Amino acid sequence: MVAFTGFRSSWLVQLSNVENEFEHEILFKYKNINGLAISGTPVFAYQKVLKKSTYDEITHDNAITKTHKVHLTYCQKIKDAPGKYHVTSRADGFFKVNIKSSQKVIGKDEILLPMGACQFCIRELFPDFLPPLGQDSEKCTELANNFNYADFIFEGRLLSNIAFNEYGALNRFVGERDWYQFSRDLRAKNNWNCEDCGINLLKYKHFLHVHHINHSHYWNTPANCRVLCISCHAEQPNHAHMKGDKSYEQFITQFKNK
Ligand SMILES: [Zn+2]
Ligand SMILES: [Zn+2]
Ligand SMILES: [Zn+2]
Repeated sequence: MVAFTGFRSSWLVQLSNVENEFEHEILFKYKNINGLAISGTPVFAYQKVLKKSTYDEITHDNAITKTHKVHLTYCQKIKDAPGKYHVTSRADGFFKVNIKSSQKVIGKDEILLPMGACQFCIRELFPDFLPPLGQDSEKCTELANNFNYADFIFEGRLLSNIAFNEYGALNRFVGERDWYQFSRDLRAKNNWNCEDCGINLLKYKHFLHVHHINHSHYWNTPANCRVLCISCHAEQPNHAHMKGDKSYEQFITQFKNK
């Protein structure tokens, strides 16, 4: 088995934006659980139409817990109402939704929402991973909301038809991405440049930050993150407090006051 340690943005090029009506075939069997795939490509199933009121609630609180959940298996929820679900191979953790208010669809295919994975699906796939049902629900939610779709879809494709039997080999899909490694990789991929002002900080890496667009430090996906120098970072909404930091002062004195 090839060891993957994080998100590969190059995967998105091959995998993104395949959308279809709901279909189902067996991707792999894990203790008789079916994954979801179309023509050999793993896909995720989710409800694409959101009520306007739900959407307003989510965006107001910035709460991923209030979105619909993304399904990784042909789980009971889907069996109950298969017609409601769309599938996608988009793997960065953001999903296209259509907002519906009193019969009218607003902004068709224009809105991307981050979504967490269905905890029933995770439990089915990795029975030992989440705390027992009804216990530590906060932890369960946190892990499900940090599901690593890219790793899952990629390994699902590589390993289709292999009977998975080591949960240890699979738990990397669920949350707790190594933040230090992720942040380093993302900044290195950007050649240690600020995405806004372009300053190169190869020699001063501590002045180069990773900013979370949605303000949630749990959502470590490239689509939700921007590489910014401390000065541009402080210009982001609700970040003015950074201007009081010592390192902000040092940075301005060293680079911006010339
Ligand atoms: Zn599910
Ligand atoms: Zn900058
Ligand atoms: Zn930030």
